[in-house]
Amino acid sequence: MQTKKIHTLIVGMGLAGVNYALQLHRNKREFLLFQNKKKVNASQNAAGILNPTILKRYTIAWQGTSFLQFAIDWYKKLELDWNIQLYFPFPIFRFFANDAEHNHWSVSAQSDILKPYLNADIFWDIPKGIQRNSGYGRVHKVGKLDIQLFLNTFEEKFSKASIRNEEFDYSALNITENGVVYNGISADHIVFCEGHRFNENPWFKVLPLIGSKGEYLEVKIPGLNPQIIYKGGHFIAPLYEDVFWVGATFNPKDKKNEPTKKGKDELVKKLENLIKLPYQILNHKIGIRPTVIDRRPILGTHPEFKRLHIFNGLGTRGGMMAPLLATQLYDWINKGKELSKEIDIHRFESYFCNPIV
Ligand SMILES: Cc1cc2nc3c(=O)[nH]c(=O)nc-3n(C[C@H](O)[C@H](O)[C@H](O)COP(=O)(O)OP(=O)(O)OC[C@H]3O[C@@H](n4cnc5c(N)ncnc54)[C@H](O)[C@@H]3O)c2cc1C
Repeated sequence: MQTKKIHTLIVGMGLAGVNYALQLHRNKREFLLFQNKKKVNASQNAAGILNPTILKRYTIAWQGTSFLQFAIDWYKKLELDWNIQLYFPFPIFRFFANDAEHNHWSVSAQSDILKPYLNADIFWDIPKGIQRNSGYGRVHKVGKLDIQLFLNTFEEKFSKASIRNEEFDYSALNITENGVVYNGISADHIVFCEGHRFNENPWFKVLPLIGSKGEYLEVKIPGLNPQIIYKGGHFIAPLYEDVFWVGATFNPKDKKNEPTKKGKDELVKKLENLIKLPYQILNHKIGIRPTVIDRRPILGTHPEFKRLHIFNGLGTRGGMMAPLLATQLYDWINKGKELSKEIDIHRFESYFCNPIV
């Protein structure tokens, strides 16, 4: 008896894996997704801020406008399908440390690329609980995705037939001419979406993904307005009720899955620098962002094994980038539509010839 063949196996249930699975579902293709919930996952720890601007250097993230617009439309469509709210269009208030920053803000806000997002005015109606009094700037058309709700709802909807909560065992994968076979399950394709754990993957571990640890706090701050994303040294983003996400640190060297005292000290210092309300730290957590040496995502097909694909390198803005990239990867694998050179795995083809293992 011939067993049924699935269209795609997916490894990893972060923003990459889930957005790709939804892309398959929308196109009526069957998938089976493997996820090890016991390991650290970047997506479950992200703030979910969807923001194309870079507020340190006052510029726009690579392709920020296209990614943001696509992502908002995509999540809004899911909201209708799932009957829940995933995206919250909260403004970002960028608090200045001193008056000298005003000019920089006003000039940047009038540049063509930032004009759609930055209001050039300096605001003085300092929200309750903020102690900086040098004014603030407003970023609009940005917001927050409830990533935990997004991932949990996906799991709820698909767990019965399409998700396996188990570690994917690479040694059990057989690559055939027309696809792959994993523990008796045949599929046309496999897409690896492992985030920073890509380095356990025997076929793709040669790629120059780095991984950058981010530490953050979950803090109860009664009295702080939960409809604003605050930006001083770090971000303070609303999570639920009086609880806020405060972070994050950025460390490409430390790969340990534990929070550090140094990280906590930095976060507390920046928090106290911005707010004057009493607070209570509920949790101190970490996530590892899948960053790439050239700061671009990595998508595409293994140079030798044409049924093996990768969707990784979402870096610091996976919430915003994953929906459009998932569409582009789908179009490449299923319709042969070329990926742009900036994201295509081909740019690292030489790594496969001289692997640094
Ligand atoms: C502290 C922090 C704050 C952030 N804030 C934001 C933000 O505000 N906005 C934003 O857009 N982005 C943010 N990001 C970035 C965002 O989280 C990442 O870009 C995104 O989550 C990466 O998603 P991913 O699916 O590639 O990886 P992950 O979320 O790490 O998912 C990969 C999954 O694959 C699983 N896996 C790997 N190997 C196997 C295997 N062999 N078997 C089974 N499962 C496996 C892993 O366990 C993991 O769960 C933040 C990141 C961090 C760390």
